[in-house]
Amino acid sequence: MGAARMNTDILARQIVTTSGMEACLDVLKGIRQGTLTAHIVELMACEGGCINGPVMRDQESMFVARQRILEYAARRRPEPLQPRESWPVMTQTYTDCTTPVPEFNEEQIREIMRRVDKYTPEDELNCGACGYATCREKAVATLRGMAEATMCIPYMRRRAESLRQVVMDVTPNAILIVDTGLHIQEMSVSAETMLNCHFAAVRGKPLQTIMPVVDAFARVRESLRPVFNETVHLRDDLIVEQTIVPVHGQSLMLGILRDVTDRERQNADLEHLRKETLSRTQEVVRKQMRVAQEIAQLLGETTAETKIMLSRPASLLNEDGGDS
Ligand code: SF4
Repeated sequence: MGAARMNTDILARQIVTTSGMEACLDVLKGIRQGTLTAHIVELMACEGGCINGPVMRDQESMFVARQRILEYAARRRPEPLQPRESWPVMTQTYTDCTTPVPEFNEEQIREIMRRVDKYTPEDELNCGACGYATCREKAVATLRGMAEATMCIPYMRRRAESLRQVVMDVTPNAILIVDTGLHIQEMSVSAETMLNCHFAAVRGKPLQTIMPVVDAFARVRESLRPVFNETVHLRDDLIVEQTIVPVHGQSLMLGILRDVTDRERQNADLEHLRKETLSRTQEVVRKQMRVAQEIAQLLGETTAETKIMLSRPASLLNEDGGDS
């Protein structure tokens, strides 16, 4: 504006320069109502303008950036202003292309808000997280087909938390959430029962407080690779099958422990029975072999004796036959 030799005084009535969403909305409201008569309006969504935009934030403070720009402007020689007649034609005619939008009554708006648990004015947080300044505006946008009814961040968060709580309350497997320092962050009711503790008492404490064996969690932390169905003896009376997965982007790990003590004991009993049966079978076979050998030995001895006993008369008979 300065280059165009326009009045840059912020007190000038014909020019409005503002920054920040609320201030911009305020200016637009004034224009819409016809109460603001400025000729030129400069609206900047970021508080403080472009020098405080998202890309600038990490570099320096808004005031240092402003100071540097002012210094630059003071050093810079203004470009000579072209004669008025050489200016481009900047007139433009606009046609009102406004699409007529339907009006909605109070009950329709309230019905939409009830879908995201907004029953009273206190429920309307007007946080702006959905992109609309107020819950009411968002409800109207929903009625116009421009927004999803459930696109309310606090509502979705509450819903996700309640669903998560249901899972944590009813799942029969123990669920543990620990941070990368292996400190307990969350646990299900079944985990409390399985590990004999109360979450309130162990929250934030080292995992080893409730689990004597935490090697697999440490491995997942180091490798960022999940572990599936690994059997671990946690206590004399507790054997679990554990699955541990890293929660990427949140520095957390989720552990699911399944009590397999009965199954492992049955397997151990079956193995014991199998070995005992094998051992007994081998013993029976060994005894049978010994009996067979003894029988064979007796048969051999008897045969030899019979042979000796019969060979003598036979030789006598042979001798008699030769003499006659
Ligand atoms: S996100 Fe939800 S609470 Fe926040 S303004 Fe939008 S509708 Fe209202």
